[in-house]
Parts: sequence; C-alpha cells; structure tokens
Amino acid sequence: MITEYDAGNEKVFLIRRLIEVRFRKETYEELLKKYSKEQVIQFAEEKRVLHHATKRNLHYISRESQIPLLGHAAFGLIDRGTNLIQVRPLTGCNLCCIFCSVDEGRESRTKKNDYIVDPDYLLEEYRKIAEFKGGGIEAHIDGQAEPFLYPYIEELVHGLKNTRETEIVSIQTNGTVISRDMIDSLEKSLDRVNLSISALDGALADRIYGVKYPLRKVLETAEYIANSRIDLLIAPVWLPGINDHEIPKIIEFALEIGAGKRWPALGIQKYIPYRGGRKLRHVMSFRSFYSRLREWEQEYGVKLLLSPKDFGIEKRRRLPSLLRKGEVYFARIAMDGRGYGERIAVVKGRAVTVITGKKPGSGVRFVITRVKDGIYLGEEI
Ligand code: SF4
Repeated sequence: MITEYDAGNEKVFLIRRLIEVRFRKETYEELLKKYSKEQVIQFAEEKRVLHHATKRNLHYISRESQIPLLGHAAFGLIDRGTNLIQVRPLTGCNLCCIFCSVDEGRESRTKKNDYIVDPDYLLEEYRKIAEFKGGGIEAHIDGQAEPFLYPYIEELVHGLKNTRETEIVSIQTNGTVISRDMIDSLEKSLDRVNLSISALDGALADRIYGVKYPLRKVLETAEYIANSRIDLLIAPVWLPGINDHEIPKIIEFALEIGAGKRWPALGIQKYIPYRGGRKLRHVMSFRSFYSRLREWEQEYGVKLLLSPKDFGIEKRRRLPSLLRKGEVYFARIAMDGRGYGERIAVVKGRAVTVITGKKPGSGVRFVITRVKDGIYLGEEI
C-alpha cells in the first residue's frame, strides 16, 4: 500500500494513505546507489515523515519509543473513571471544522506535531487497563483526529473486541473516509458508529467543515452503516445562527435511514467554545438548548435528551493518578509536543506535556500545574 510521486524537489512515498515519507530528490538518488528502496524508506535518517492530511510532522509511538500511552490527551488511552476507555490511535484530521474544539485540520494555528500509535502497543496497554477495570468495558475510539485515517483501524477494532473485558467497541467519525469494504470487515467487531453530520445542505456543509465536503458520500455511508449490523448514532453539532434549520432535517434523515437500533439514533451536541478550540460568535444557553431538544422530542417522537446511562456508562474505579499538582520533577524531554511550545517528558510511566522552550533530548525541571483524568500538564521552572 505504497504510492510514490514527486512534489517539487522532493520524492514522496505515501504509505497506507496516511504516512508521507519525503526525501530531497538528490539525497534519495544517492541513497539508492547503496540501498534498496524499501531500506531507504525504512532506515534512512535523511527523511521527513509527515501526516498526509495535515502535513505536520508525524511521530510513530511504539513500545520501543518508550512513550507511555497514559498521560497525554492527544494519543493513547484515557480513563475518566467509568467503564468507558477512550482509545486514541492517532492525531490529525482531514476536515477543518469551524467549531473544532481542538483546533484540528491543516489550517490549525496551534498544533505542531501529529502522532500515530503502534496497534500492538495500543492493544497491549488497553488490555492492562481493561483487566484493572473489570468486565463490561466500552472501548471508544476517538481523539483529536479522524479515527478512520488510522491505517490499522481494522486490526485495532478486532483486537479491542477480542479482549475479554470488552463488551462494546464504538467509534467517533466524520464519515468522510470510510469505505463500504471497511464497514463490511468491521461488522463483526464494531458495535456503534457515532457519525457527525451537521448540515444536509452542500454549501453550508462546505462552510461548516472548512473544506470541500463530500456530503453525498457521507450520507450514503450513513445509510450503509444503518443497514449493517453496526448501530449508527448521528451526532450533529448545533451551531446557533448557522445550522439551526438543518437540525430538524438531520433528525428526519436519521429516522428515515433507521439509525439507532440498540442505542439512541441521535446525539445532538451543543456547541461549546473550548480553550484552545475554534470560537464562534453565538453560543446558546444550556436552558434554551435543552428546551428546544424537548420540543423536538415531542414533535418527532424520538429521544434527544441523553445521559451516560443511555449508553450503559457507569462509574468504575480509575487508575491511580501517580502525579500530583504542585510536585516538581526533573526529566529528559522524550519527544516534541503536540502544540507550539510544548514537549513531552516521561515521569513514573506517564507522558507529561511540559511547557518549555528546551529541545527534545535535554533535561527539564518542571512543576505539575494541571492533573485531570490522568492527563498531566507541567511548566518549566
Ligand atoms: S472532524 Fe472533528 S477533529 Fe476533525 S476538524 Fe472537525 S471537529 Fe475537529
């Protein structure tokens, strides 16, 4: 699954539609005199590795990289003290939504690097946490990314499902890169797809998603999933003043294609401006949001006010938090960070985002400034 092409003065190899390996043409020609093409792609140090959708540096995280899969919000595994474990196999998205809470996509102003996690490493670490938490686990694949860009998505979904403690495997997606073959092959392991569709009007969808959006393909994909054994939940984001008129149309569409066989058909989300996310001018109050959902519930006879219980989510013991706010550590910077001015250090088997200007490889002294759901932030002191 490698395609190759020239781009300016670079030779590019595109692996599994995601990983771009780039060489300066002269360097590549020189290397080819001594090594095979495969050896050059795999071992030569003179390459740049980029995420094909975002064009940012792409870092491969495997067991050998010694980067823990706990502690970082962008990759690995997150335990928020319930029977749901978030599984984040990669970062980087092919869309550029005007409401994106993590400022993803090629136009991102805050993200500097992308990451991809080795599937075996991810599964091994997932199994340890699942065993700790006990049976009836939902593995939910999501992230600061489009998860279907992950080249090992099928292997990951099957591996999660084949873990003793896993009851449900679900995934978040924008639906733009899913093929029918993928759905067919995931049918036996994937239980639910949460598909975000926020407009049924083509021009408006282009505006909301910040790219030329393949609306028809996404709608066909939605229908195909609804007709498979996989459950479909359609999750529009309601953007006041922008897609108000689309929400009733999306409710009708979801009901028409038969979304929500086992779980609710719709999960309408309220736009919330997040720190570090993209901001819109109008924000609705929770009161108006819920009261409108209640009206639509009555009008369409469909459940729209949802709670974690509707998805079987319950409290569970959480992995102990090994680091505390205010503690000071000295560690080597293991990798460049996700955002500008961020690096990743490793302490007590946890990845910590450290705000520092120091380079990877050097040591840094820092204080832990934030601890939330096992995600750690520190600042150099
Ligand atoms: S699809 Fe999700 S991750 Fe991608 S830009 Fe939109 S909101 Fe952000």
